[in-house]
Amino acid sequence: MKKFWPIPKVKKSIPLPKHKRGFARNHKDNRFHAGLDILAPYSSDIHSIEDGIVKNIFLFTYPKLDKHYKYENTYALAIQHKDGNYALYCEIQKPKLKIASKVKAGQKIAKVGRIFANKPKHTMLHFEYHSILPRKTTKWYAGKKPKGLLNPTKYLKSI
Ligand SMILES: [Zn+2]
Repeated sequence: MKKFWPIPKVKKSIPLPKHKRGFARNHKDNRFHAGLDILAPYSSDIHSIEDGIVKNIFLFTYPKLDKHYKYENTYALAIQHKDGNYALYCEIQKPKLKIASKVKAGQKIAKVGRIFANKPKHTMLHFEYHSILPRKTTKWYAGKKPKGLLNPTKYLKSI
C-alpha cells in the first residue's frame, strides 16, 4: 500500500537511532527519546502516513510534565493502521479530528505545535510507533522501555 511522507513541506530525512533527533537517544536522567523528530516550521500541515482510524487524542506536553523543562500544551494523535500498529503524531496543535474518525493516507490530520514559548523556532513532529494503544505521554526513564514501544525508523524508511 502507498504511504505518504507526513510533512510534504519538509524534505524526507529520517534521523538514525541514537543520533540527536533519533529514536532512543539518551537525555538527562537516563531518559530515552521514545520517538524521532522531523523538524518543521510551526503550523506546517501533517498528513496521515497510511489509511487508518483515530484511536486516541491526548495532551502530550504540558507545563507540569517534566521538572527539567517548562513545556507548552501540545497534543498527540494515535492512528491505528491496517497492520494493527499505532502511529503517534506528537507535539501537534489540538487536532480537529475526533476519536473513531477514519483517515485516508495523505489526509491532513494536524499542524505542528510548539513545545517551548521561549524557543519559537524549535518546532517539529515528534513521531512514535507503538504496538499497544498509547494513552499518555511516553516517558522512558532509567532505560525501562515502555511496553509496546517500537522503533519508528524502519517504518518511516518504508515510505
Ligand atoms: Zn522528539
